Amino acid sequence: MIKKIGANSSYFGNITEAIQTSIHGLKLSIIHLKNALSKRRIGNDSFKKDGYFDPESSMVTLKYPEETLPVPDNGRYKLDLEIDDCIVCDKCAKVCPVDCIEIDPILSQDVIGETSDGTAKRIYAAKFDIDMAKCCFCGLCTYVCPTECLTMTKSYDFSELDMRELTYSFAEMSEEEVTAKKVLFEEAQEKKKAEKLKKDAEQSSKPSTSARPKFSPKVIKKK
Ligand code: SF4
Ligand code: SF4
Repeated sequence: MIKKIGANSSYFGNITEAIQTSIHGLKLSIIHLKNALSKRRIGNDSFKKDGYFDPESSMVTLKYPEETLPVPDNGRYKLDLEIDDCIVCDKCAKVCPVDCIEIDPILSQDVIGETSDGTAKRIYAAKFDIDMAKCCFCGLCTYVCPTECLTMTKSYDFSELDMRELTYSFAEMSEEEVTAKKVLFEEAQEKKKAEKLKKDAEQSSKPSTSARPKFSPKVIKKK
């Protein structure tokens, strides 16, 4: 029969009760330790099995980070970008409610490649930064992405000591490449401007065809 705690009011009764409760607590700890050791031996994903979190006989904690709970497929966690599939359309940056996506596009005069779904690429990404410290995980950027290259991963533990480390840079161009492509873009812009000026000058030197012909009515005199 288990006596109620505090039922012994005598000096020796209190000592006996203290020893009994200590032994009881120790027994429980040993049972949980035994269960824990045997559960751990099953494997890293043993928490997926039924009864793993049974409070009476099983584990109540995970051996994090070796063990992690499964996260739902539609969970919103760390963003990732497949830059090769990005067409630098800027839609993600425009839709972002907290402006945490920064893109520096450089337009090319020719097609520069193709994404895995066959979309032609015409814009270089000199910069593609996502500041995950600002991100509110709304997921809007992933919905608007036409090539589905911007996705939410299942990674939720990406804390950093330095907040600046939470800005992820996905652009892969070197400084020299960026400078060279920018020069090409400027040159193309200048060329277009010159061609337009030339065309306008040619138009203005031609006689105007839109001028209305002068109408002078013929007056027929009566004989
Ligand atoms: S998930 Fe929302 S807040 Fe985060 S980058 Fe995308 S649009 Fe911006
Ligand atoms: S919406 Fe997608 S394709 Fe467009 S710039 Fe963003 S990541 Fe790239």
